[in-house]
Amino acid sequence: MIIVTKKQYYFDQKKCFTMKFLLLFCFAAYSLLAYEVGNGKSLLLLLNSSKGTVSFNELNMTVLPHPLNAQKGFVILPIDYYTLPSEIEGQWNTPDGNLTLAVEISKAPYPTEILVVESAKVSPPPEALERIAQEKAEAEKIYAAYNPIRYWNKPFIRPIESIITSEYGSARTYNGVLKSYHGGVDFRAKTPLPILASNDGVVVLAKDRYYAGGTVIIDHGEGIYTCYFHFSQLDVKVGDKVTQGQSIGLSGATGRITGPHLHFGVMVHGVQSDPLHFMTQIETLFKL
Ligand SMILES: [Zn+2]
Repeated sequence: MIIVTKKQYYFDQKKCFTMKFLLLFCFAAYSLLAYEVGNGKSLLLLLNSSKGTVSFNELNMTVLPHPLNAQKGFVILPIDYYTLPSEIEGQWNTPDGNLTLAVEISKAPYPTEILVVESAKVSPPPEALERIAQEKAEAEKIYAAYNPIRYWNKPFIRPIESIITSEYGSARTYNGVLKSYHGGVDFRAKTPLPILASNDGVVVLAKDRYYAGGTVIIDHGEGIYTCYFHFSQLDVKVGDKVTQGQSIGLSGATGRITGPHLHFGVMVHGVQSDPLHFMTQIETLFKL
């Protein structure tokens, strides 16, 4: 038999009330700053001030000023393609206090693609391995660099008006072997067509690469890069300042490829993100 004294009963009631209050408080906080996003997407977190930093695990992001409203701020949180469904928590640290940001990550419905390509491009010959490793390291160095200058002040545009032949995120098997997922979006370009810069920026890579063929990478500042692959002709060089809509080269069929097309990719804080989803997120900044 358990005997509960009046004092203990009162204490338990009080503790219970405190717990309920805390739960309600947490629920209210989560309701205000809770988000949902699929793997491979980048999530725009609109904040009511442009102060402080937002951190999720090891990713620390400076809150960026809203392009149309200096009172507001935002960060773009990229979710890696391989992230499993889960809930993650971040912190918005401001001079006025800290706030918890809760993000629920769901599984985006990506399809599977089976591709057959030239075998040397799936299992490259030994003499190509050094080149591939160098190109990989070069790209990783570019994406890891954070340039705090913002070059753009309007939404991003598609680099070509054409049919999409492969969306971002498809799980890809090459000649029967699961190799990777599709890290960008492919646009049909049967004949060489001018490819347009998606937004203002600075060219940080313009060269022929083993897998990507003729490649251009544009730095838009604040951790955002756009990438364009398989060009037959490059019309820009490293260091060139480009403006949105400017032709940067002609589409082609260079690199690991099943036919002529443009591959368009977006990197956000070093993470390969769904380009079309990224574009819709940025667009929301311009719909006040
Ligand atoms: Zn592609």
